[in-house]
Amino acid sequence: MPAHLEGHSLPVNSVTVSPDGRRAVSGSYDDTVRVWDLETGQCLAVYHAGAGVNSAAFSSDGSRIVCGTSDGQMHFLAPVNFPPSSPPIITAVRLWRFGEATKQPDGTVLPVPGRRDDHLTCRCLHCGKLFEPPEPVLAIGMEGAQVIRKGLWLPESAYADPRLLAPCPHCGGALKFNPFVVDAQASDPRIPKRAREPTR
Ligand SMILES: [Zn+2]
Repeated sequence: MPAHLEGHSLPVNSVTVSPDGRRAVSGSYDDTVRVWDLETGQCLAVYHAGAGVNSAAFSSDGSRIVCGTSDGQMHFLAPVNFPPSSPPIITAVRLWRFGEATKQPDGTVLPVPGRRDDHLTCRCLHCGKLFEPPEPVLAIGMEGAQVIRKGLWLPESAYADPRLLAPCPHCGGALKFNPFVVDAQASDPRIPKRAREPTR
C-alpha cells in the first residue's frame, strides 16, 4: 500500500475506506471529493463539490458516496468511472414481512400488520433474487453482529475470511458476504425464540 495519496491542495477533513477495503474516499477544504485505489495509490475520481467538504463516506455496498459540504449541502454520488467491487458485497438481514400476522410462541396470533421473517435473507446483486445465506456465513455473521452490538470493531481479518465468498444459489454469480448480519432479534421481543438462532 502506498504511503502517500497525493492530490488534495488544502487540508483533508474526512477519509473513509470502502466496505471491501480497496478504496478510500476523502473530502477536503479544496472543494473536492477524491476516490483512491488503496492498492496502487491512484486517484480514481475527483468530484468538485462547490464548497469545502466536511465529510465523505461510502454506502454499505460501496456503490455510492455521500458527502457534506460547508455550505450545508449533501451530495449523493454514484461514481461511474471506477470499477465496482468484485465480487459485490452483500449483507444478510432479517426482513419485515408486511401484512402477515405475528404468531406468538404460545400460538396466539396478534393483530399486527406484519412480522419479522423467521430467516435471515440476502439479495443477489447480479440477479436481484432473494436467498438464505449459507450456514458458515450465518454463523460468522451472527458472531460479527454480537461484536458490533458491544460497540467494538471487527478486525480486518474478519472481512478476509474465505468462507464469506459464495455464489448466488439462483444465478451462480460470485458474491462476498459481510462478516456481520443486520438482525432485529435483540430489540424485537415478538420474534419467536426458534427464529433467533441461525438455521443449522
Ligand atoms: Zn443471483
